[in-house]
Amino acid sequence: MDSSENKNPNKPGLCLSFPYPQDPEDQNLLNDLGAYYDQQFPTNEIKSTAPYIPLIVHPEFIEEVELYEFIYTAKENINEECFRRENQRADQQDRLYYRIVYDCFDISPYQEVKCQSEPYYVPKNIDDTTLVFESRFESGNLRRAIQMYDYEYDLVLRTDLNTKGNMQWYYFSISNTRKGQKYIFNIINMLKPNSLYNFGMKPCVYSEKNAHIHHIGWVRNGQDICYYQNTIKKSPGACYFTLTFSLTTDHDNDTVYLAHCYPYTYTDLCKYLDTIVSNPKKNHRIRRKSLCQTISGNTCDLLTITTFNGRVENLKYRKGIVLFARVHPGEPNSSWMMKGIIDYLIGPTLQAKILRDNFIFKIIPMLNPDGVICGNNRCGSAGVDLNRCWIDPSKKLHPTIYHAKAMVKQFAEENEIVLSCDFHGHSRKKNIFMYGCVGKTRNRERIFPKLLEKISDVFSFNDCVFGLQKAKESTARIVIYKELGIINSFTMEASFCGASIGKHADFHFNQEHLQQLGHDFCEALLDFCSPDQSKVKVIMEELEMLNPYEEEIQDENADEDETKRRKRSKKPIVKKRTQIKSKKDIQP
Ligand SMILES: [Zn+2]
Repeated sequence: MDSSENKNPNKPGLCLSFPYPQDPEDQNLLNDLGAYYDQQFPTNEIKSTAPYIPLIVHPEFIEEVELYEFIYTAKENINEECFRRENQRADQQDRLYYRIVYDCFDISPYQEVKCQSEPYYVPKNIDDTTLVFESRFESGNLRRAIQMYDYEYDLVLRTDLNTKGNMQWYYFSISNTRKGQKYIFNIINMLKPNSLYNFGMKPCVYSEKNAHIHHIGWVRNGQDICYYQNTIKKSPGACYFTLTFSLTTDHDNDTVYLAHCYPYTYTDLCKYLDTIVSNPKKNHRIRRKSLCQTISGNTCDLLTITTFNGRVENLKYRKGIVLFARVHPGEPNSSWMMKGIIDYLIGPTLQAKILRDNFIFKIIPMLNPDGVICGNNRCGSAGVDLNRCWIDPSKKLHPTIYHAKAMVKQFAEENEIVLSCDFHGHSRKKNIFMYGCVGKTRNRERIFPKLLEKISDVFSFNDCVFGLQKAKESTARIVIYKELGIINSFTMEASFCGASIGKHADFHFNQEHLQQLGHDFCEALLDFCSPDQSKVKVIMEELEMLNPYEEEIQDENADEDETKRRKRSKKPIVKKRTQIKSKKDIQP
């Protein structure tokens, strides 16, 4: 697979190459939904071998946020209501419209397409209330919208490129809305067996008119939200899940965006970095270079932040910090946290200066640009989860991981790396927490998360999990820990929903909370590595007194199996005190 062969000939922008499917059998997805749709769609209607043509437009959003948005309390009987509705639909087949009103691959039957940027469906007249769907923009991933009733639509998500699954992230827009009208959306091919949507999470919604008139940015919106296993069979033993919700629109003829989380695209990152490197007040604190090219020919950025003036040989005495984000494209919350970190580090504060003077930060803000661009949830262009490739990454198939690992190894030869962290989003738990590794030192890898908890309103030490899980042995966290011996090797996980603790309990997270976590992370680093180790000492004593550690981590799937973990933590714990031999022992 030569990268030049895979470049999309329809390259739409300056710094953007849309990944090109090698296997156009995306139809497998629609075939999987066969039992549901076969009788409705003659097969010749759903054949398509052409990849979709992305639009050149890049939606831009204002960043205005409401700090406190309640987590939703679901109706008690919402589940039964959903099943009743499914049964009702099954009984009333002849009343359902089954009208395809959007498909990102197939040619629209409604109009002769003169220009690729025309929508799939154009309303016939002002009385035509059919919603106009669009998703052929960066990070968009709606494959098909099917109108079932006047105001109800079934939605099918695209699979991750060159895979037959991974659907969970969604991002699309609707227009031709009517003021005060309630619309029902059923995303019918999600794959995870459970979701925070059943625990109060609402979809992210952005109304262009609300932004323009009232200066309201992304908000949480939607009612009658439910996530449940539907009746469509994926394959023997595997099922699809439906996310259903209703949305009442505020304006006539509005364009409204809907997403699983606040989008943060590759273009957003490029623009952000362009602004920094062209700002004379900031650009002397940061170096931006290309780590490598992705399979689709996009640049993966590597940032170095430190104090650059002074003698080069001084640099080798500085300690290293390595940070990654967005290996999983469907987790833009990781990008927002990383933006918070970068803003802090290149900012004007004394604390930031101390960090730059004492550390060299190597940051890869987007490890999977191809996946982000094409709206994948989990994988890169080659159709694999790049956070399961760290043991032996392929230069051709996983170039960003191959080069990131080489960069970290080389960095470790030149400088002592004290901490590494990979940022993610979590779809089943609330709060922000970390996965850490665990070895003979037991408590040392818990100091940083514990310090962070003292600083952050949304970080939860109790939700942290420490272990070397078999299923995760090829993640950045475990490979960096094992191969480079970096004890403080972490994965940061931010809930897609919100907090269950502290002053933000029962509220959703938004872009601001996530960026604030980035600031808090930097402040925790200051305490962690301060020559005055008094805070670390206090934490260490607390951990020794309170930390319910066992002799060895027995449960290899600790974070996979919450029930087991909770049971285990309820077992009586034999407290053990270990002796601190010298100050050196507690220094990270
Ligand atoms: Zn992830």
